[in-house]
Amino acid sequence: MFTVILAALLALSKIADAFIANSNGIIISSLSSGKSRISMISEATIGEDLPDYGQTSIEIDTHVLEKKSKWRRKDLYGKSLIEQTMEEIASNLEFQETSRRFKELGQEGMSREEKAQRRRALDSLGIPSFNEFLKTKVNSEHEGAGTHKDSITRQMPELLQLNVGLYCNQACGHCHVESSPLRQEMMTEDVASKCLELLVNTPSVHTLDITGGAPEMNASFRYLVSMARVLRPDLDIIDRCNLTVLQEPGQEDLLSFMVENRLHVIASLPCYSAKNVDTQRGGGVFERSISALLALNEAGYGQPNSGLTLDLVYNPLGAFLPPPQGSLESKYKEVLAADFGIVFNSLFTMTNMPVKRFADFLHRRDELKDYMDLLVRNFNTGTLSSLMCLNTVSVDYNGKIFDCDFNQQLGNSIDGQTVFDISSLDELQKHDITTDNHCFGCTAGMGSS
Ligand code: SF4
Ligand code: SF4
Repeated sequence: MFTVILAALLALSKIADAFIANSNGIIISSLSSGKSRISMISEATIGEDLPDYGQTSIEIDTHVLEKKSKWRRKDLYGKSLIEQTMEEIASNLEFQETSRRFKELGQEGMSREEKAQRRRALDSLGIPSFNEFLKTKVNSEHEGAGTHKDSITRQMPELLQLNVGLYCNQACGHCHVESSPLRQEMMTEDVASKCLELLVNTPSVHTLDITGGAPEMNASFRYLVSMARVLRPDLDIIDRCNLTVLQEPGQEDLLSFMVENRLHVIASLPCYSAKNVDTQRGGGVFERSISALLALNEAGYGQPNSGLTLDLVYNPLGAFLPPPQGSLESKYKEVLAADFGIVFNSLFTMTNMPVKRFADFLHRRDELKDYMDLLVRNFNTGTLSSLMCLNTVSVDYNGKIFDCDFNQQLGNSIDGQTVFDISSLDELQKHDITTDNHCFGCTAGMGSS
């Protein structure tokens, strides 16, 4: 077990947390108690042979912890990252290639191509579609038990996730919504107002999860948050924060806004290696992220009894599954406190979904087939009762409605509906959940949490 934890920590030092910062890639579920949770599957639900973690070609033995005496850099505040990000975009060949394909194929064409790649990978492994696989696997496991469950059925909506736009001050190498300062798509106040109306009309929703891009840079962000806080004082409002946004000009009062509205911050966790973070997320991002975490701590976030929650998320960037969450969290707490004086509430682990930039990343490295194989052989029926799509409604910046963020990224909306077509999220319960081969990512190991 220790080896696994150590490997995961060391791996973290070599990988970027592009998927971590990008909240679209993180699945939040919720408990009937009303508390949000990201991790859904307890270690006890994992069979003895799950997960097997797979293999990665990422080198994990060259980790160097940078020692530095002063991590809280107040002088960084008010200095934008955007100019530097734009320079990095201009010289990044992979970014140029993705932009070229985006122009040529459009979002829909890229999703189709990606889906075909996943299908080819599964065909070469002799694995049927996710839906067929689910039926066979679950029925065979429950044979004679009388409790067959071979489909995923929507339940009462408890979590509303809003992707308020793609604008971001960073352009991380593996951002799975391909955000950057070039992406100007943003949720309008009309769509935001309608979402607030749905929130009021759906009392079973106890969590509003706001994501982007850098959601705080969206024109409707503060309106959404402050109105939601007034309309539903009990609501758990999550801000998926990339941390460096706190230092952007015009965001000097962001931290006090977060405190005032009791935002629940879910933040990217920088690697321990500045070089690796900066390579993936942009020059200087590591130092800015550590400084932002310390600022959050100073404001009370992550501190005992403050009521201000600061959660971190870990995901592997290579083609392997995350280790058990509980043990990794303890190790993170120990290391972050010792090396930087950082405290936080919970660490959540997530499985990288084989969609968008990560699918591209695997395809380029010729690892997609191996990764799909890893996901399928770690299929765990214990994940089925906690899938994000069971109680979540995901809305994009245009107001289109989806089962989950991954279906949003793949353009699989719920019957083409928008927030303007319904008066309560309860109306969506009659629609089937659209599942496909990417869903193997949610059902592997401990689940994508
Ligand atoms: S580009 Fe922005 S939204 Fe995408 S992963 Fe990086 S910080 Fe997150
Ligand atoms: S990817 Fe599939 S299984 Fe996962 S939350 Fe979305 S619809 Fe459900």
